[in-house]
Amino acid sequence: AKEAGKGKYMIFDPSFLQAFNERVQLEKYLRQGLQNEEFLLYYQPQLSLKTGRIIGFESLIRWNSPELGFVSPLTFIKVAEDSRLIIPIGDWVILQACMFAKRLQDQGHGHYKIAVNISVIQLIQDNFVDKVMESLEITGLEPELLELEITESTIVESFDQLIPNLSFLRSKGIQIALDDFGTGYSSLGYLKQMPITTLKIDKTFIEHVPNDDDNRSLARAIVLIGRKMGLKVVAEGVETARQMQYVKRAKCDVIQGYLISKPLPEKEAIRLIRSNPVY
Ligand code: C2E
Ligand code: CA
Ligand code: CA
Ligand code: CA
Repeated sequence: AKEAGKGKYMIFDPSFLQAFNERVQLEKYLRQGLQNEEFLLYYQPQLSLKTGRIIGFESLIRWNSPELGFVSPLTFIKVAEDSRLIIPIGDWVILQACMFAKRLQDQGHGHYKIAVNISVIQLIQDNFVDKVMESLEITGLEPELLELEITESTIVESFDQLIPNLSFLRSKGIQIALDDFGTGYSSLGYLKQMPITTLKIDKTFIEHVPNDDDNRSLARAIVLIGRKMGLKVVAEGVETARQMQYVKRAKCDVIQGYLISKPLPEKEAIRLIRSNPVY
């Protein structure tokens, strides 16, 4: 304990200091990582349940740090957000993802949609929409093939601030998906006002299909809501054939998950679509 003024003592928690130091370290490595191009994108295929074919990919960032090894985005995205490094990292992700989708076209593999995860910190920047439009212009990718994924909780928290940006992007033909849907407590009233095209059912609802009755009916209810609102519905985290059958019967449009493939580096993603699989 350290003396902090007259007769008062501050309890100094060493684990707090350690956590703080680790954060500062991580931030420093993140900054380096950006300069040294230590980030890469993996791509997880999305399958149309109507045609049984791969129609697009979600881009997922990976960080291969020389100091820390492979770091999960679940660890570093929060730090990147707090330090605002998510802005340059996110810019890089958008451009890379557009380049990937355009490359697939240029190499004759076809037109595939690319979904990109967007942090609220990026979304509330004044020049966010300009940067997105710039990535489309630079690459020549059709706006209809770009889908921005925004978590439900993000939108609920900053609703008024986000709507103008989202509406503008929507008006340009860009797709907007509500990610992790079902976990962010948005009322249906909100949902109706949002300029979105897609609902992504969170994988926690899929996980328990077909054993857990409650989550099963929730999954079906979410698909129904989405369809009633004219939205495309994507089920994420589909790992088994049973789960696929279930969401298919519930009239879900698209699935994504280990059943089809884990996220892949570009070469393997291309190899997969070249094999032209039909499920
Ligand atoms: P998310 O957007 O919900 O992405 C889905 C996560 O589930 C991914 O984890 C993916 O690898 C994993 N996943 C895919 N299929 C399955 C499955 O069948 N079962 C299970 N259990 N998991 C599956 P990942 O790649 O570790 O990413 C974690 C989170 O990090 C993402 O969650 C997203 O919120 C964030 N993230 C990833 N890339 C980016 C990025 O470029 N920008 C931002 N802002 N966030 C990102
Ligand atoms: Ca996502
Ligand atoms: Ca998700
Ligand atoms: Ca998630």
